[in-house]
Amino acid sequence: MRLILLGPPGAGKGTQSARFMQKYGIPQLSTGDMLRAAVSAATPIGLKAKAIMDAGGLVSDDIVVGIVADRIRESDATRGFILDGFPRTVNQAQALDAMLAEQHMDLDSVIELKVDEAALLDRIASRVQEMVAAGKPVRADDNPDAFKTRLDAYRTLTAPVSAYYEKKGRLRTIDGMAPADTVTEMIDEVLSHCVKA
Ligand code: AMP
Repeated sequence: MRLILLGPPGAGKGTQSARFMQKYGIPQLSTGDMLRAAVSAATPIGLKAKAIMDAGGLVSDDIVVGIVADRIRESDATRGFILDGFPRTVNQAQALDAMLAEQHMDLDSVIELKVDEAALLDRIASRVQEMVAAGKPVRADDNPDAFKTRLDAYRTLTAPVSAYYEKKGRLRTIDGMAPADTVTEMIDEVLSHCVKA
């Protein structure tokens, strides 16, 4: 099962990916998590990415495509993966097509979680509260200014990725405003038509 989850920040991609990762026994490949790990480890990529991420901008396609190309070659990804937060530009989507073709792989599904932008700020505020309550560190980009930049980047650079997959007849859209369990059921329904896992 090779799945892409698309949707703006706060749409619930991370929550849903974690559920399907368990169900299908495949890894969730979150470029945001990979980049945050690189920032924490102060690797050369992390040092380059930190300021851009903190401000809510997009890290360069070259860096992100390189990280994903390496990651999907790892042994745990041979049975499939869920891409969360990638591709975020049409360039990245084209690079993904090329790397999958090179490995004779194809995508099973591309699912977009559609959400009401006005509700996203509330979701981010709750995410911050939950992290604080759990004594976990709050993401540097979970603040109103960076969040606005992240949404702008989504509208300008990532929304065309949905159109890219729509043109190929691959895109399925789901109401991301529904309760998380309902969203999971709707994703399940889409995947039941394409399960090769
Ligand atoms: P996320 O955890 O998916 O919200 O990503 C957090 C941040 O990491 C984003 O705001 C970007 O700065 C960076 N990032 C994650 N994935 C990508 C990507 N595919 N392309 C460019 N930047 C990314």
